[in-house]
Amino acid sequence: MTASPIRSVEVLIASPSRNFVTLRITTEDGVTGLGDATLNGRELAVASYLRDHVAPLLIGTDAQRIEDTWQFLYRSAYWRRGPVTMTAIAAVDVALWDIKGKLAGMPVYQLLGGAARESALVYAHASGADLDDLGDSVRARLAEGYRAIRLQIAIPGMEGGYGISSGRANGGRYMYEPAQRAGLTVEHGWDTRRYLSHLPSVFEWARAEFGPEVMLLHDAHHRLTPIEAARLGKSLEPFDLFWLEDVTPVDNPEALRLVRRHTTTPLAIGEVLNSVWDFRPLIQEQLIDYVRASVTHTGGITHLKRIFEFAALYQVRSGSHGPTDISPVGMAAALHLDLAIHNFGIQEHMAHAPLAGEVFRTSYRFEAGAMHPGDAPGLGVEYDDDAAARFAYEPAYLPVARLLDGTIHDW
Ligand SMILES: [Mg+2]
Repeated sequence: MTASPIRSVEVLIASPSRNFVTLRITTEDGVTGLGDATLNGRELAVASYLRDHVAPLLIGTDAQRIEDTWQFLYRSAYWRRGPVTMTAIAAVDVALWDIKGKLAGMPVYQLLGGAARESALVYAHASGADLDDLGDSVRARLAEGYRAIRLQIAIPGMEGGYGISSGRANGGRYMYEPAQRAGLTVEHGWDTRRYLSHLPSVFEWARAEFGPEVMLLHDAHHRLTPIEAARLGKSLEPFDLFWLEDVTPVDNPEALRLVRRHTTTPLAIGEVLNSVWDFRPLIQEQLIDYVRASVTHTGGITHLKRIFEFAALYQVRSGSHGPTDISPVGMAAALHLDLAIHNFGIQEHMAHAPLAGEVFRTSYRFEAGAMHPGDAPGLGVEYDDDAAARFAYEPAYLPVARLLDGTIHDW
């Protein structure tokens, strides 16, 4: 096939209920590709990286040379890895896969080797202020057809807590959105002792209430020390979790050795990591069971596929990160990869607010607790500029946690 020179590279920023940064690459022949460049709470850093530093380099280059472009952007930056760089490279990479799919007249998963399964198992979120509230939330998810559900609950006597939707009104708990459109960072309180003593009783209740079949997950969200994480994993073993996520900050991968020595509860980690080099010790030592990376923050389809294939050598499976800050473009890219790799585990699915659907038209579909990316050529996502113009960027920050005595803590 002849070359497809890149004519334009546009950075599109819109906020249909939350901020999204989208990259649109257009070839001289008018073929367009979309990439997700959304880095929650630090969106404009990636927008500038792409607009000011990457776009001028891409004009006139061949959109079909995906691997070469990836290596060029990675190596020519000199400053390697990190969330801003790897999100920017991801946006370009995903846009080029979208273009290649459209040129070939095939969905991206076909270019990646074709479907290795019929559809990708997804998990949803359920949360509540108490067991009654959480029970309603789980029943709503089961009624929608989900077979895997992440449970988060407020800890008695403690404000905040991770992953709890605020308010029962208007289905509020089903639209949990951690990034707050507030002028400043919102602060939540945290007490590890209360959490560790309360949580096992919640999963004991959930198994009694919903039976052995439903797959249950939980996210500790980086808040525990290794020995606290070990205790939590051990105390949850009777309740057969699909996984326990982010039990301790991953700054020291070797900390997971201590957790592993004490528990057989499967561990999932990695949403703040960006590269195969970050994941290497976790995978090679089999310190985790699931790679929690996203296409959007890990260098795109090209690099996340590399991470998953490396993980496959060690019987570690995928568990792609899929919160609402992964845009519908990023979600579509994840689903194409989920369908094509061998060592697929599960895909997080946190449905976007309806307003996002006015800007992004998607062709992925949900049925019986699983998703399929659809068979439109490329990623199968279209961007509506007119709709996007109605939703200007609004600064938003992720929260931070403080211990009861005011000490800053991991959120
Ligand atoms: Mg998480």
